[in-house]
Amino acid sequence: MIDCREAVRRLWPYLDSSLEPRPVEELQEHLAVCQRCCGELEFSRELRGLLASSAAPPLPDQLRDRIEHLLAVGPGGGPEP
Ligand SMILES: [Zn+2]
Repeated sequence: MIDCREAVRRLWPYLDSSLEPRPVEELQEHLAVCQRCCGELEFSRELRGLLASSAAPPLPDQLRDRIEHLLAVGPGGGPEP
C-alpha cells in the first residue's frame, strides 16, 4: 500500500491521464481507504503543501478544480458507505 505522500505525488500524472495502469490501481486503492488509514486531512495537507511548493507544475484552473472536487467529494465520487 502506498502512503499519502506517494498518492499525492501520483495524483498529477493520474489527473493528466499519463499514469500507467498499475500505479493508477495503487493510487485508487489508497484513495479508497485513505479516509480510514490516515484521513483526508493528511491527504489534503500533503496536496496543499505540494500545490504551494515549487515541486508542483503550474496548474491549469481546470485541473485545480478537479483536485478541489476530488478533495470535496472523496475519491469514490459518492457518499461514504
Ligand atoms: Zn492517504
